[in-house]
Amino acid sequence: MGPEDGVDDREYGDDDVDYGDPHDYDNLDEDRSEFADPGGRSALRAETEDNPRNLPCPNCGAEDVLTPADRAHGYQCDRCADRAERGDDY
Ligand SMILES: [Zn+2]
Repeated sequence: MGPEDGVDDREYGDDDVDYGDPHDYDNLDEDRSEFADPGGRSALRAETEDNPRNLPCPNCGAEDVLTPADRAHGYQCDRCADRAERGDDY
């Protein structure tokens, strides 16, 4: 057995560039890009120029953990949200 068994050539030989049109994924990314942690568990919004992360958590008081959009939604910081989800609060 060696590196020249031809398997790699066959895999890369099928370069159908149209397969899986990347534009579909572009739209998906834009939809999710407003989240600070796309695909993750955090519901917090991403920090932007108009939405700076400069507000304290209403629960634990940690500074600069929430954006105005987060506060408008009544969110708390990731740590508190995570704790509340697991029920460790009480
Ligand atoms: Zn907190």
